Amino acid sequence: MALISCPECLKKISDNAEYCPSCGFPINAPKVYKPKGTGCFMQTLNTGCLIVVVIIIIAIVLAGISAYKLKTNKNAEKTELKSSKKNKKRALIN
Ligand SMILES: [Zn+2]
Repeated sequence: MALISCPECLKKISDNAEYCPSCGFPINAPKVYKPKGTGCFMQTLNTGCLIVVVIIIIAIVLAGISAYKLKTNKNAEKTELKSSKKNKKRALIN
């Protein structure tokens, strides 16, 4: 058992440790650090998931904005209707 320095936080850790106890950097984690194949696939999968999450968030925000605009438009129409009714009443009074 030897001590190596973590490539992430440069603290001395055991070379038997799967993850750095200080920062969680994977040292000997078998599945994460395969050089080709699974590791690359996982990386692309992670970025893909991130992009999907970002797109979903943007869609939710856009939906919220459009819903808010619809609400405000309806309110504006209602107030317009009310004001036009008031104007008609005023016109009748006059
Ligand atoms: Zn570390």
